Amino acid sequence: MIIDGRAIAREIVENLKNQPRPNKTLAAIFVGDNPQSQSFLRQKEKIATELGIEFRLIRFPESISQPDLISEIKKIGADGAVGGMIVQLPLPAKFNRDTVIVAVNPLKDVDALTPVSQQLVDPLPVAVVKEILKRRDINIKDKVMVVVGRGFLVGKPIANYFLGKCKELILLHSKSGLSEVNQGDVVITGVGKGGLITPEMLKPGAGVIDFGYDFNPPAGGGKIMGDFNPEPYAISHKPLAFYTPTPGGTGPILVAKIFDNFYKLNSL
Ligand code: NAP
Repeated sequence: MIIDGRAIAREIVENLKNQPRPNKTLAAIFVGDNPQSQSFLRQKEKIATELGIEFRLIRFPESISQPDLISEIKKIGADGAVGGMIVQLPLPAKFNRDTVIVAVNPLKDVDALTPVSQQLVDPLPVAVVKEILKRRDINIKDKVMVVVGRGFLVGKPIANYFLGKCKELILLHSKSGLSEVNQGDVVITGVGKGGLITPEMLKPGAGVIDFGYDFNPPAGGGKIMGDFNPEPYAISHKPLAFYTPTPGGTGPILVAKIFDNFYKLNSL
């Protein structure tokens, strides 16, 4: 019932080892010094090293101006040795994320954050959801999908993907409340509020795919928490089909999918 994201990520990476390795660099652009971003970047670098892909971390101080940052991103995107690029998010607050992101070369956008690159490869959370649904043998055509959160990184691309593909799509957000979360055959959440959703709120037999990260939840005792709190007592009273734990759920799969996209973009 608990999805082992680390094991799935391992399989994805092992599978990539059997494919021709692109002889290109993966460039990661990191502005400022957010410690969580540093930790995510280390995970990306570790997999790059394992696959024998050169990982180039390009750091800029928070003091860089937005036009200068955009010009540096364009230069990196034009470098023939670079086969994939990541602008590590979140950017410090002074930058306009959407304006900066469009400077990424869409042919090298492994995160698939721009509309053009989304024609080529899946946005990472979408790739993660597809991977989990495939493994659970879930056909969304006859399923009610609830997406909690409509954020740029998680909720929005996932809701866009489901539109017209599932029996019913319910999109919840901060103004809607969560009363309809119990309609979902599968609930996908990307909010960032530790323990927002508990098993009692769900339909029996539902599945939960949780992307939320709360680094400092009031109930977490200093530990990272997902949006879903799979409290064991409650689960025994309301059986679920599956859920992704945090940490060790969607996060590792998402990092592995970056490399899936890197290989795909370099074989186009
Ligand atoms: P975001 O921009 O942080 O937006 C959060 C969304 O949650 C908004 O749509 C907001 O609603 C909604 N929301 C806030 N409080 C709510 C509540 N009480 N009930 C229902 N909805 C509520 O979103 P994001 O950038 O997509 O990121 C979402 C989360 O995913 C973050 O925790 C981020 O760290 C995490 N993340 C995880 C991974 C992974 O690998 N697991 C990857 C990327 C991001 P409004 O629109 O009404 O404000």
